[in-house]
Amino acid sequence: MKKIGVLTSGGDAPGMNAAIRAVVRKAIYHNLQVVGIKRGYEGLIQGNIEDMNLSSVADIIHKGGTMLRTARSDEFMTDAGLEKAINVISVFKIDGIVVIGGDGSFKGAQRLNEAGIPVIGIPGTIDNDMAYTDYSIGFNTAINTVLYAISNIRDTSTSHGRANIIEVMGRDCGDIALYAGLAGGAESIIVPEVDFSIDEICRRLIQGRNRGKLHSIIILAEGVVENSYEFAKEIEKKSGAETRLTILGHIQRGGSPTAFDRILASSMGARAVELLMEGKKGKAIGIRGNQIYDVDIKEALSCQKKINQDMYELAKILSI
Ligand code: ATP
Repeated sequence: MKKIGVLTSGGDAPGMNAAIRAVVRKAIYHNLQVVGIKRGYEGLIQGNIEDMNLSSVADIIHKGGTMLRTARSDEFMTDAGLEKAINVISVFKIDGIVVIGGDGSFKGAQRLNEAGIPVIGIPGTIDNDMAYTDYSIGFNTAINTVLYAISNIRDTSTSHGRANIIEVMGRDCGDIALYAGLAGGAESIIVPEVDFSIDEICRRLIQGRNRGKLHSIIILAEGVVENSYEFAKEIEKKSGAETRLTILGHIQRGGSPTAFDRILASSMGARAVELLMEGKKGKAIGIRGNQIYDVDIKEALSCQKKINQDMYELAKILSI
């Protein structure tokens, strides 16, 4: 292993920069060369590749987004695209690649691995939808961003005695809604993994109001209801409480990463370089029980993500 390439792919996540920094600095520490592949697999196919040195990654640990930029590449998913990528890897004499991204990016990494390229995957996605790891890079920052929004909305919710619905990201995975909802003391949390009843939500809302509660926060994961505005109207009609909807959107994707995400990203980035130096390939790095570990990417991809049912029940109990 002489030269390592690093890329970020799919949706960006706060902490990706800290992971890139860790890969670059750890590699240089061990006298390896490092190149940055710009715009994910798209940039790999196009040979959009730059040498990285210690100062290429200076002043980025605290920045959201990804300095290597990211992209989604349909071409890479074709056999011709994969062939182009392999050719570029050979031309640039890259011996191993670190892919930072979500499960789509890991599928791409697995294809490279099957084609004989040593690849290590680092989970970077705010959704926390990768079952093999307790946490992915960016999730902690995203839930803190949502929590900040909940706190602000709670103030105005209390002043006006309104019910507030806050729509958060997590179309297929309710972790953002669940973790931020529990931390923010939401009255109801609606996630894609658990059926919900609008009557039950209204019953909880009315029950809270009857005991003098001035605010009511409902966290709604995107895509669970067809139309969030109609949903808010229905809640208002059924509960009699004036209701407002806030869709947080891409604000959840950005921002300076939390200490947790920076530490996670730094640890995972450094581990990725170690694995490549040990001759390992096709591995996904994760964290389980506060320990950084690795599994085959194939195995990581086959794990089925489930909602933390205990946490879901706890949030319900604590918001009675
Ligand atoms: P996020 O979870 O934030 O959406 P992601 O990594 O899952 O991130 P995707 O858009 O699903 O994001 O995947 C990123 C890129 O990975 C795709 O644009 C494509 O180039 C590559 N990719 C996805 N699936 C495959 C696949 N089955 N085979 C090869 N490459 C793939």
